[in-house]
Amino acid sequence: MTGQHSASPGTGGHIDIRFGLNNNRMVLNNEQIDRYARQIIVPGVGGTAQERLLSSRLLLVGRAADVAPVLSYMVGAGVGEIRLQLPPGEESKLDDLATGASQLNPETTVKPALESFSGLDLAVLVGRSPEPALLVPGLFRAKIPVLFCRRDQPGRIAMMTALPPCPACADVDLLGSAAPEESNSGFVTMVAATEAFKILSKVRPLPSPTLLEFDGFACVARQLRRRQVDIPCDCSGTTAD
Ligand SMILES: [Zn+2]
Repeated sequence: MTGQHSASPGTGGHIDIRFGLNNNRMVLNNEQIDRYARQIIVPGVGGTAQERLLSSRLLLVGRAADVAPVLSYMVGAGVGEIRLQLPPGEESKLDDLATGASQLNPETTVKPALESFSGLDLAVLVGRSPEPALLVPGLFRAKIPVLFCRRDQPGRIAMMTALPPCPACADVDLLGSAAPEESNSGFVTMVAATEAFKILSKVRPLPSPTLLEFDGFACVARQLRRRQVDIPCDCSGTTAD
């Protein structure tokens, strides 16, 4: 199923479609309140946000070494279902990741990604090259928010909370070839996981498309736009050249 949609005029002259979470709701039991107490007590989180996390569905894409830290964070936070898409040749690592996840938190289900993107609340792509975006080309027509975290230099997180832009039409080179790993790549990854937490728990309204660019531990945020607004792109529902 799809989430709630609302449309408002975008600043770039396009329609800015923001995507909501699916409406599945659950109520925390006492064991869950104990398990997630540390984040439930954080101002702005609370039990309702935790319930949203537990009923949320996340797609996580990238190499095992890159997705593992995000997976640990999201499993610990209590995301209900995580679908994993690893690149060809790494499929055998999925079982180990799923086993580790179930030991960390048996309430989170970790399974291989499906062909369909239906029912997902968020996709997080993590890597040190464009590879994660190339693994799921259809994702950018699926109308769900996507966070693309590049852990090579300079560290970048593209928060594609509305489409366009997608990696192909954004005004930052998200599909450029791999650079050396960002020295603070662990920090960049942690920030990406935190942004995913905020989106899935809906502790804040979904932000506009935003680019976070890192220089050491400093981070500059700016609006993420289309590179050329007059050139159509697959992600906006029209045909690209
Ligand atoms: Zn696009």
